[in-house]
Amino acid sequence: MGEGNAKPGGRRSLDEIMRRMAEPDFTVRHRRVPEVPETGAHVSPEMLAMISPKSRYVKKWKRHARRCLQCANVFRYYGISIS
Ligand SMILES: [Zn+2]
Repeated sequence: MGEGNAKPGGRRSLDEIMRRMAEPDFTVRHRRVPEVPETGAHVSPEMLAMISPKSRYVKKWKRHARRCLQCANVFRYYGISIS
């Protein structure tokens, strides 16, 4: 009793995870991060968190956010109206 604690399925599920990670769909779903890419072409969430909503930076990016869904979501996250 207690010998050879073989866990049926243990090894197998790991294999399955590895196989699923190789599937393109799996990778795509787990890559979806609700943040804008830090390319400078979008508003910086860090900046929005730090500076005043009345600052020039925010005003400038509000205009952008009206046309950019990603940035609009960032503004909404911080409770800043873009309208
Ligand atoms: Zn944007």
